[in-house]
Amino acid sequence: MISKTLISEPTFEDRTEKTVDQQWADFSPIVTGEDYLQSIRNRGTLLYLFGEAIDEPADHPIIKPSINALKKTYDLAIEDPDLATAYSPYISAPVNRFLHIPKSSEDLVQKHKMQRRLGQLTGTCFQRCTGLDALSVLHSVTFDVDKKYNTQYHKRYIEFLKKAQKNNVLISAGMTDPKGDRSKRPHQQVDKDMYMRVVERNDQGVYVTGVKAHMTGGWNQHWICVMPTMNMLPEDKEYAIIGMIPVQAEGITFIYGRQSCDMRAMGGGNIDQGNVHFGGQEVLVFFDRVFIPHEHVFLDGEYEFAQELVTKFTAYHRASYVCKTGLGDVITGAAASIADYNGVEKVSHIKDKLVEMVHLNETIYSSGIASAHEAKELESGAYMNDIMLSNVCKHNVTRFPYELSRIAQDIAGGIMVTMPSEADYRSEEVGKIVDRFLRGRDDIPTEDRMRILRLIENMTLGRNAVGYLTESMHGAGSPQAQRIQIFRGMNVEEKKQFARDLAGIKSKK
Ligand code: SF4
Ligand code: FE
Repeated sequence: MISKTLISEPTFEDRTEKTVDQQWADFSPIVTGEDYLQSIRNRGTLLYLFGEAIDEPADHPIIKPSINALKKTYDLAIEDPDLATAYSPYISAPVNRFLHIPKSSEDLVQKHKMQRRLGQLTGTCFQRCTGLDALSVLHSVTFDVDKKYNTQYHKRYIEFLKKAQKNNVLISAGMTDPKGDRSKRPHQQVDKDMYMRVVERNDQGVYVTGVKAHMTGGWNQHWICVMPTMNMLPEDKEYAIIGMIPVQAEGITFIYGRQSCDMRAMGGGNIDQGNVHFGGQEVLVFFDRVFIPHEHVFLDGEYEFAQELVTKFTAYHRASYVCKTGLGDVITGAAASIADYNGVEKVSHIKDKLVEMVHLNETIYSSGIASAHEAKELESGAYMNDIMLSNVCKHNVTRFPYELSRIAQDIAGGIMVTMPSEADYRSEEVGKIVDRFLRGRDDIPTEDRMRILRLIENMTLGRNAVGYLTESMHGAGSPQAQRIQIFRGMNVEEKKQFARDLAGIKSKK
């Protein structure tokens, strides 16, 4: 699979930078999931996996499940257009809901219902929400910057949005910089590229250098929206850059993040993976003097708007984590199934554990859906989730999937991790032993019992534990980031006054 080499001393003279029109000429409108599969082939990107540059990442068995998950976002729009499409006033046509700017609370409610549904269908991170949340926040941020500085960012953004909607493309969010020494600001870092920055500019656009870390669905999409990861000071001006970059732009190197048990995809068979069709994708992306034409630059030096960007992005994205309730439905169903296969589904403590799982899962859902119902209109006309409830939703997500997983493992029993492989099950020599002694209820095939056990393993220890557990912990900000937002919005003085009034205390202290 080795066909390309990373140029250690890059020369830029031979690069021809594409204009906006030339960049969009690489795309044609995508309708079906099959169209999408074709759209990501033969792009000439440089992607490394296990130290090797991969000829055609779209065909790689470790990468394929993440592509299948994104494909599902196209398929669902055809199968259930009420749920997964919406009418766009920008192009006067229905668009995939992942490209629809929320213009009402109902839009956000529908979005979260769609996310739960996709979680149920894939059992993993389907990777398309960061792009929608980036588009949603840019609607108001570009509007606000223009209002203050009389710039043209909102117009540029709308032009991009229209093309994105017409072509039905995928956009991923490149937000997290490596950050280096956390005690230092971007401009204070010894390595100046520790945060993405503008390294050069000319009449046509800007050049950026830097790295975006753990980018969800970084390679298998069409565009990357690079954005600042935190608030910026005047000295950090060159780091205050937002722009859209095509995945196949020159100067990008993708390094694929390996995931727990990912090599099971290389071993043949379809039981041991637990969820053979779907998985997530996380990539480390190096941008080496990558060109962004001015038309695709949506912030350039207006450093004070980085804070607004981050706060609003998290308001959208932390509610997007209702996606995990779809996975919660799957893990609850898996726990109930293995209890059934073991013949214990009606045992009272099993029923009670399933009730606990549902209670935890619906608690996540209620905070997420409430944040949509309580959404407010911004000056730009876009609606944004309630910040407090969105943060509570994500904070629930940092905790409850772990408890759901613990209960699922409790119900599954130790066989989940001591069970022989599919190869042993199919072996002429020992297959009969495995089949006979891994059986639970007599009327349930051993293979079905193995499949459910592997699915629970997949979601709580294996490849999709990345999405169900660790991403739940750290995606869209680690738990402490939500506690900071909850602290900012908790208005404890008002609460103290409620208490003083009822206790008959006249003092304002
Ligand atoms: Fe969407 Fe959830 Fe994946 Fe984030 S973690 S991209 S919200 S599916
Ligand atoms: Fe994520």
